[in-house]
Amino acid sequence: MKIVIPHAGIVLLIGPSNSGKSTLLRGLVEQDILLPSEIVSSDEFRKLVGDVEFIDWKDRPKEEADALYETYQQISKEAFGMMDAVIGARCRMNKLTFVDATHLHPDDRKRYIAMAKENHVPVVALILDTDQDQLLERDLHRDNPRGKRRIKQQYQVFKREKRFVKKEGYRAIYTVRPSDSVEWIRGANPL
Ligand code: ATP
Repeated sequence: MKIVIPHAGIVLLIGPSNSGKSTLLRGLVEQDILLPSEIVSSDEFRKLVGDVEFIDWKDRPKEEADALYETYQQISKEAFGMMDAVIGARCRMNKLTFVDATHLHPDDRKRYIAMAKENHVPVVALILDTDQDQLLERDLHRDNPRGKRRIKQQYQVFKREKRFVKKEGYRAIYTVRPSDSVEWIRGANPL
């Protein structure tokens, strides 16, 4: 399949944990299709503002789990605030930004659709459709595993949400499955 990358604007990755968002983007940088600065990642911003990309609160005593969850929520809030400031600035500069986060909840997607509209740049959805068994298998082998329960929950939300994406107003929607081979098409960088 062919995927056309816009010159400027926002490419929203959509997919649960372990669907391969960061791996795909790393590959595009290695192939010189994207610049590292064209990727904004929630995990990286969590590390920037809170030193960690993930906090595992499962299997902890309730009080401790609640406190860890609260800290993770606070880190995420700060991280997304910073991320959005960077994405907004890049839109104003007419730059291209791939946003590496799950975007499973409609409000998260709508924020970027509104941001693109406000700045007169396109927004494209890139859905990573990986089946639940693969998500769970990958989780066993990754650093900072997200845990079975979380993966299954995210997959249920993903299954429900992917049909709504069609009506949200993207310039284009691409769905990539693990077996797909993709030809990435990108015009010359104007700079
Ligand atoms: P998160 O949202 O949790 O950051 P993600 O969708 O960005 O997850 P990655 O960080 O790219 O997922 O990958 C998670 C794990 O799955 C890693 O261990 C990675 O090596 C593995 N993985 C990703 N893509 C593939 C693939 N196509 N084939 C096999 N393993 C993969």
